[in-house]
Amino acid sequence: MTYPLSAADLKGEGMTSQRARDRLVGVLKDSGIRDPRVIEVIRNLPRHHFIDQALHAHAYENDALPIGHGQTISQPWVVARMTEALLEFGVPQKVLEIGTGSGYQAAVLAALVPQVFTVERIEALLRQARRRFRQLGLTNLRSRYDDGKLGWPDEAPFDAIILTAAGDTIPTRILDQLSPTGVLVAPVGSPSRQTLIRMRGDGQGDFIQEELGAVSFVPLLGGIG
Ligand code: SAH
Repeated sequence: MTYPLSAADLKGEGMTSQRARDRLVGVLKDSGIRDPRVIEVIRNLPRHHFIDQALHAHAYENDALPIGHGQTISQPWVVARMTEALLEFGVPQKVLEIGTGSGYQAAVLAALVPQVFTVERIEALLRQARRRFRQLGLTNLRSRYDDGKLGWPDEAPFDAIILTAAGDTIPTRILDQLSPTGVLVAPVGSPSRQTLIRMRGDGQGDFIQEELGAVSFVPLLGGIG
């Protein structure tokens, strides 16, 4: 995939250059990321476009960064791992993300699957993310200002659902919107200790659940911000 913005700003230079992205991809591979599709997207997508200019020098470090309103853009390794986990059994047609934040995870998904739906409860963050999607020419992505605990009922069922904020459980209404053989990836646990889990529908109304390791996410809150 190539993005319509060829301006130096988006291509990046110095700390935001292709070389910086290639270095990040090397770090991700060394820490266990294997899916070549995911690696290719991270190599091409300008992560610095999703963060404040003052932090551009850190855009390609493997760290979460603040995006304002007490929220963070996830660590690249976590984005890669969650995306890999969602795609492992095949490419889902329709993916729902809860927690648009900067828009980076949604943009990664939009490069890999036909349709992405993303929900954010902080309007200012959503507005910024939408501008970024437009600038990158992403047309297979729709976003909504709402409490993501409600999912996106009008567009359900989804073949895959990703939560990028952590609750102590997966809200039932979200699980109800997963197709019978769908895949859901989410951080679950207390604010200080969370586990990345994957649930896969067995087609009979039950789920196979796996734990994919320890992670650290901002909390999944209720209502709109
Ligand atoms: N996927 C984002 C990660 C952002 S951090 C990225 O790539 O940048 C998690 C986001 O989840 C925050 O923006 C937060 O506002 C949002 N969030 C938390 N609870 C939510 C809810 N109930 N509904 C929608 N968004 C929520």
